[in-house]
Amino acid sequence: MPVTVKTAEEIELMREAGRKLHEVHEAMRRLIRPGISTAELNACGEDMIRKLGGIPSFKGYDGFPAAICISVNDEVVHGIPDRKRVLREGDIVSLDAGLIWKGYHSDAARTWGVGEISEEAARLIEVTRESFFVGIRKAVPGGHLHEISRAIGEYAASRGCGVVEDLCGHGIGTHLHEAPQIPNFSQKGRGLLLVKGMTLAIEPMINAGTKNVVWDDDGWTVRTADGSLSAHYENTILITDGEPELLTLPCK
Ligand code: MG
Repeated sequence: MPVTVKTAEEIELMREAGRKLHEVHEAMRRLIRPGISTAELNACGEDMIRKLGGIPSFKGYDGFPAAICISVNDEVVHGIPDRKRVLREGDIVSLDAGLIWKGYHSDAARTWGVGEISEEAARLIEVTRESFFVGIRKAVPGGHLHEISRAIGEYAASRGCGVVEDLCGHGIGTHLHEAPQIPNFSQKGRGLLLVKGMTLAIEPMINAGTKNVVWDDDGWTVRTADGSLSAHYENTILITDGEPELLTLPCK
């Protein structure tokens, strides 16, 4: 699939899709507490997506059985919600959600602490979030894609974290996953020239320990190979004339 540059009308729909997804995340965030199950968080997210007129894009994607990917502690991404998986004080939980609005996708992920969390966990969440913001400083017209990748990876590695290499961000639009792939670590070459109107889902997945990950037998859940904690932070962004616009966060 080619890299797409969106028209003004398409961008407006993607803004609407992004705003709605932010609301979905806020609804789930308000429920996070010890004792809630990941199935309950999924139900909240799916209900909110539908209430806002959207379609949960993850549900049924390659057979994924739920609307929200919910990954706890050493789970990196693609955790399957389960009513028996109950959050406990001190856990960290990553919520990855996507919706379709009038044919256009938005995709965003957040990691939150459950009750009081360790300093190590809080720091990992902050490094992950910060690596995204360091990366998108390079998301400017005339820049190149791999400058984003390098900036994310170097920042997180400089903080002593493991940068997941087996999964990456992606272009987004009328499809959830469009070209280009967006790695979170240094690449050979400069990568794609960034042009106004491109929409990208940039999503560092950062581990407290090794960068290596393993897949569970369920075929979905990705977890750290050494059992260390992992965090995920993602927004759908728009390349503009200047600084990128964050479609899945409220306007400044
Ligand atoms: Mg994504």
